[in-house]
Amino acid sequence: MTMTAQAGVSKNASPFVYGPEEAAVLEALRSGQYNHSGITDDFETRIAEFLEAPETVAVASGTAALHIALLAAGVGPGHEVIVPSFTFCATVQAVLAAGARPRFIEVNPRTLCIESRDVLDALTPHTRAVLPVLYGGRAVDLTDAQPALAERRISVVEDAAHAFGSYQGPCRVGATGALTCFSFGPIKNLTCGLGGMLVPRTPHEADICRRLRGLGIVEPPARRAKTTTYTVDGFGLRAQMSSLNAAIGVAQLAHFSETEAKRRALWRTYAAALQDVPGLALVDVDVDRSVPHLCAVRVLRGRDRVFHTLRERGIGVGTHYPPNHLQPAFAQWHRPLPATEQVGREIMTLPFHQHLTEADVARVADELRRALASETVR
Ligand SMILES: *Cc1c(COP(=O)(O)O)cnc(C)c1O
Repeated sequence: MTMTAQAGVSKNASPFVYGPEEAAVLEALRSGQYNHSGITDDFETRIAEFLEAPETVAVASGTAALHIALLAAGVGPGHEVIVPSFTFCATVQAVLAAGARPRFIEVNPRTLCIESRDVLDALTPHTRAVLPVLYGGRAVDLTDAQPALAERRISVVEDAAHAFGSYQGPCRVGATGALTCFSFGPIKNLTCGLGGMLVPRTPHEADICRRLRGLGIVEPPARRAKTTTYTVDGFGLRAQMSSLNAAIGVAQLAHFSETEAKRRALWRTYAAALQDVPGLALVDVDVDRSVPHLCAVRVLRGRDRVFHTLRERGIGVGTHYPPNHLQPAFAQWHRPLPATEQVGREIMTLPFHQHLTEADVARVADELRRALASETVR
């Protein structure tokens, strides 16, 4: 076992840079323009072309993308947003940032994604938006709920932080007509260091999102330098994407076909190695259509012991995520969610990043099988 292989399996996640990112950041640094700049515009255009979406709005983080998307969808005080409890806490914080209340719902334990039936059951007169999370990179199909949502003018805001590059039917996620939010944080499928991207539904919504990200200022950055004043026409955040981050994203996007291939191959290797392992259920990510972000399993007995055994063996397992309806911050919106609570006790994510080799995956699968075998004889 080489040192790099050891370092590989000890990490649950890790950014992967291809090389050209370094020169791109240096060039941006030397340009002297660190706010939203021409490089950020270029990144927006390239992402829109890649997704085959009409336009995109770059922002400082995935959380900012969600916050701005909810505001653009008209979500505010007095409104409820239907959201899975089983997600990163950022999803829920974005709902609070918009001034609304989370209405937590269950996920399907097989996919860890929400389903139309549970969305329809959770509708109230206060519901203003539904916030599906594309867990692990898997697209969420809410077609069956669409008529009821459209009739009540309820927006769907997709948390696609895990799902950059994934497909829904023939389109990439982000090109399906939904209001979609991506994260380009350190360990996401594509990284800018930190960053996020919104895909608005209409040109009007794109305008609203651009003003919200840029302190409510109407004039685009390039035009502002040529006038003696500027117009602030409403509330706005400082949530632009720096050119330094955009430069990293441009360089990463040029290698995305390698990212896709590697992530699919790693996930498939895990799936083959973990077939028919007693006491284990692999969370299905729909790998043919997704660019997997995680490899998650449910450990049906003794998850905590298995987790610690693997950690002691140097395997960087994780738990994505502890359910949010059980978090102190969100206690006032708690409702019983037995399936989610069960999944919260079973979930374990395996090391999943592009530094891993096939041999690393084989070793993780091996250690996992061994740890589970000692559970079944307990
Ligand atoms: C990473 C992530 C976010 C937040 O994105 P940031 O870029 O870290 O702000 C939101 N939701 C989910 C599911 C995430 O994994």
